[in-house]
Amino acid sequence: MAHKPSSKQLILEYFLQTIGKVLESKDIQKASGGVVEWARRVRELRNEDGYQILSHRDRADLKPNQYLLETIERVPAFARDISKETRSLVLERNGYTCQMCGVAAGDPDPLGGNRTVRLTIGHIIDKSKGGDDSMQNLRAVCTTCNEGLQNRAMPKPDRIYLLAQIRKATIQDQEAVLNWLLQKFKLEVREKK
Ligand SMILES: [Zn+2]
Repeated sequence: MAHKPSSKQLILEYFLQTIGKVLESKDIQKASGGVVEWARRVRELRNEDGYQILSHRDRADLKPNQYLLETIERVPAFARDISKETRSLVLERNGYTCQMCGVAAGDPDPLGGNRTVRLTIGHIIDKSKGGDDSMQNLRAVCTTCNEGLQNRAMPKPDRIYLLAQIRKATIQDQEAVLNWLLQKFKLEVREKK
């Protein structure tokens, strides 16, 4: 006998095929194979699997029987367990910079498009390997690194290389680096002449 997809899988497939479209309850139920508990499966996709399925509780323009998945991007369950306060402390401690690839929040996305870099919180030692949710085990990572989309857990750049790069850069870029460093070390930002 062929493996029959679960109602949850059927609902997920339906959402993934209709990203960005507002779906009606009756169509979701139909896609699920007509199960009675389709709404519970939607909740599981959202709360356990991290799919950002929006409802009228998230968006005023959605009616109570409407749902919308805008992105395949998932929010890992652990990220929702960590308090807002801890998250902002970790981001601040890490200077709003991805600790894997070095991009900063608001930079243009290195993968292109019109997106800017967004940061999330990741574990240094994975929870599956015994890591916990303490501040010491958390770090800022960009959503790209967090999803493992780029293999750029780069080693820290060597000082000689880094200095050479900065010496080669334009005066404007050198100034930008200087201002970033002054800000980082809480010194006065140099006035532009
Ligand atoms: Zn990154």
